[in-house]
Amino acid sequence: MKVTNKVVKQLLEHYKELSILGKVKATLDWDLNVNLPIKGAQERGEQSAYIGKLITNKWHSPEFKTLVEKVQEEKNLNAYEAAIVRNIKEGAKYYYSIPAEILHKKDELGARSFMAWKKAKETNTFSEFEPFLQEITELNRIVATHLGYKENPYDAQLNLFELGITAAKIDTLFTEVANAITPLTKQIIKSKKYKANYPFLSENARYETHDQKRIVEYVLRRMGYDFDAGRIDVSPHPFTIGLGQHDVRITNMYKVHDFRDSYTSSVHEGGHALYELDINPEYANTPLSGGVSYGIHEAMSRFWENMVGKNPEFLRFMAPVFHAFYPEQLKNTTVDDIIQSFNLVKPSFIRIEADEVTYSLHIILRFQMENELMNGQIKAKDAPEVWRAKSKKLFGLVPEKDSEGVLQDVHWAYGEFGYFPSYALGNLYGAQLLNKMKKEIAFEEDLRSGHLYNIRAWMSDTIHRHGSFYTPDELIKEATGESLKAKYFIKYLTDKYTKLYDLK
Ligand code: MG
Repeated sequence: MKVTNKVVKQLLEHYKELSILGKVKATLDWDLNVNLPIKGAQERGEQSAYIGKLITNKWHSPEFKTLVEKVQEEKNLNAYEAAIVRNIKEGAKYYYSIPAEILHKKDELGARSFMAWKKAKETNTFSEFEPFLQEITELNRIVATHLGYKENPYDAQLNLFELGITAAKIDTLFTEVANAITPLTKQIIKSKKYKANYPFLSENARYETHDQKRIVEYVLRRMGYDFDAGRIDVSPHPFTIGLGQHDVRITNMYKVHDFRDSYTSSVHEGGHALYELDINPEYANTPLSGGVSYGIHEAMSRFWENMVGKNPEFLRFMAPVFHAFYPEQLKNTTVDDIIQSFNLVKPSFIRIEADEVTYSLHIILRFQMENELMNGQIKAKDAPEVWRAKSKKLFGLVPEKDSEGVLQDVHWAYGEFGYFPSYALGNLYGAQLLNKMKKEIAFEEDLRSGHLYNIRAWMSDTIHRHGSFYTPDELIKEATGESLKAKYFIKYLTDKYTKLYDLK
């Protein structure tokens, strides 16, 4: 990385402090999720908030603010310098465009509405949450006005997670996906080969945590995850967290009656971790460090989870490992059963339980709702009814209770709009990359022999090492020669599941 511009250099010196504070805060958060004794929670909250305040204060310090403004006037920047300025400008937008009282109101509303949502979900009474959802929508419209947008206020929210994307672009992609997946799902469920339940995954089966841990470690080593630059711990919701250039940790959880989740979750989180670990070390503590967007990050994790971890060829390679650890439990289980069970398609109301095929439909539903709320096409009071109608159209299923429908996720209660689409965009990015990768390396052969080295190296070279140098759109164009398309994901799913279920 070559930086010669004096103002950019000065800015980087200051930015390093922000980056270090961010990692310190991350370390506190990791500890909170993994180790913290319950009585330490209150103090930890204060410690974490204090570091958060130092970060905000740094952004608002006159010296730093002047530099951020000055650097945007600089001319003749090289590509690295221009990317640094672009990312700083985006970061600054959040801190400088939205008035402090609005940010404060958002925090305060988030806290109150979380409690209301929790009660509403527990008692299945949407009316408890309705006024909050309306207030959140209105506040997000105000935030959007401050952030700025061309056509659709929702674009401002989407851009916080995926720079350069618009609701119109997503709508085109998602409509294409929904039109293909809804009929594919029906075909799968009706197929002769379809089996919804497997006896080796019942309440009677026991898969000891210590065995699961060894399998997880084995597969992560095959992926090339460096245990000298990370570790695996236990937390209720698996996550990945970067505490430094050479310290990217993951967590996992273990279910005693089902050995599949700890495997797929760890491969998913391992995908996030490899991305962060492979970023050009010269970018550390600069605005080029870290993955470029939520969509690309989710592309990496979902690529490893679904396209590698649940690939039938790789599961064929893994099957003897499962059989070796669980000789009794899997005594009557064939390799085919293992493969099918990992790729089981089961439409459900609940997003977090969804399979690879129907997952995107859950996201499409939420994307449409957020878009319609932000544009005033629907009001909060209509949300449960609209949810049911969309659910019927996309899944052919209607949840009986709002707690399994419009109230199921916490995201809106926190006031967060624009995050959901990242998950489905990740699926699309991943499939487009896979299509290109298959032309350049022997993907299926590598999976059959369990060699993941070339796959990681390809991804590292094409995506990981660039960190936040390119925008998401530039990155996918650089990698595959075209902007994001839906057709690769549709083809990937159709090919995989046609083969798995002998569809015509
Ligand atoms: Mg993830």
